[in-house]
Amino acid sequence: MKIHTKAVHAGDRKPAPVEIPVSTPIHTAASFITPTTADQDRVFGGEQKGFAYQRYTNPTNEALEAQIAAMENGHGALACASGMAALQLALQTALLERPRTLLAARDIYGATIKLVHDIMGPWGLQTVWVDTNDLQAVERACQEHQPGALLIETISNPLLRVSATDGLAAICRRHKAALLVDNTFATPLLERPLELGANMVIHSTTKYLNGHGDVLGGIIISDEQHFETLRRLSRVAGPVMGPFEAYLTMRGAKTFPLRMERHCENATRLAAWLSEHEAVEQVFFPGRHDHPDREIVERLLPERMYGGMVSFEIRGARKAQIFAFLDRLRMVVCATSLGDVHTMALYPWISSHRDVPPAHKAEMGVRENLVRVSTGIEDIGDIIADFAQALA
Ligand SMILES: *Cc1c(COP(=O)(O)O)cnc(C)c1O
Repeated sequence: MKIHTKAVHAGDRKPAPVEIPVSTPIHTAASFITPTTADQDRVFGGEQKGFAYQRYTNPTNEALEAQIAAMENGHGALACASGMAALQLALQTALLERPRTLLAARDIYGATIKLVHDIMGPWGLQTVWVDTNDLQAVERACQEHQPGALLIETISNPLLRVSATDGLAAICRRHKAALLVDNTFATPLLERPLELGANMVIHSTTKYLNGHGDVLGGIIISDEQHFETLRRLSRVAGPVMGPFEAYLTMRGAKTFPLRMERHCENATRLAAWLSEHEAVEQVFFPGRHDHPDREIVERLLPERMYGGMVSFEIRGARKAQIFAFLDRLRMVVCATSLGDVHTMALYPWISSHRDVPPAHKAEMGVRENLVRVSTGIEDIGDIIADFAQALA
C-alpha cells in the first residue's frame, strides 16, 4: 500500500480487544461496521443489537443513557444536545398520537414557555397554563381541555414550589394524558418521578447531573410505553448529544449523589442563616416549616434533602441595590445556570424572568428584590462569609 492509503486505513478498525476498559471511552466514529453484511442488515432492521450510525446511537451515549436510566429507574434513556432539545423531543413523543393540547405548570423555566409558544405553537400545539399546586384546578383543566399531556417541574424556579407528582399522575391517568416531569432541580436523588407514575422524565444534564459547569446537555428517561417512539423520532430528527459531551456528563454524574448530598446540606444551612439576617425579607426554601407545600415535601422528598436552591428577598431593595449586592460578592459566581460545584447567584428580574410580563411575574410572586442562589459544595463557612460581607 502507498502512503496515502496507509494514512487513511492503518491502525483503524481492529477487531474488538479482549481487554475491557474500566471507563467507557469516547467513541467518535460516525458509522460502525459489522463482521458481515448480513449482520449489518439485521442491525439496520433492528433485529440485532448493534451500532450503525452515530445519529441512532453510539457506545459512549449508550453508557451514559444506561447510567442515568438506572438512577431514575426508567426503562431507557436518550441523551440530547441540550435540556431544551430533550424537552422538545419528549413533547413530540408524548403528543404524537394524542390531542395536541398541553397543560403546563404556570411556574416553569422561561425557555420552556418560549418552546411551547414560539416553536411548537405555530405547528399546532395549544398550551393551557395552570397552577399545578392546585390539584382541583388541574382536574378542572383536564375536564375542560382534554389535554394530551401535562408538563411540570418537580421543584419550580425561582420560588421553589414542590409538585405533588403522585397526585398529578393519578389525574393524568384518569384523563389519559401523558405526564412529563422536568426533574432538573430535584434530581433522582430526591425524587424519581417514574416511580410515582410519570411517563417521561427530562433533565438539563448541564445542571446537577454533570455539575461542573463545563458541558451542555439534556436527557429523557422514559417508561416502556414511550421508549420505542422516542428512539424512532430521534433517529430521524437527530437532536442527540455528541460523544465528547456524553463522556464528560457520565464522568460528572458518577459523583452526582455525593455532590447533591453536600448541595442539600449547604443549602439548608444557608437558608437558616439568611432567615436570621435583618436585611433579608423572605427566604424561599422547601425545607422551611412554613413552606406552602410542606405536606408534599414531607411525603415525597427524603428527610433533610430539600435541594440545593435557595431564593431570598432583600428588604426594600430595588434593582440598583440588588446590582450593588451582587457586585460585592467575591467568591460566589454571578452567572446564569445552576447545579455547579461552585455557589452561584442570579437575579431573575433581569435574566430568567426578564421577558415575563409584569402581571404574570406578580402572579408568580417574582419581585424586584428577589435573588436566586444555587448553593455549591464549598465549605459552608466560606459561602456564608461571602453573603455576610455582601449583605452588610
Ligand atoms: C436549564 C434548564 C433547562 C434547559 O436546559 P439546557 O441544558 O440549558 O438546554 C430546562 N429546565 C430547567 C428546569 C432548567 O433549569
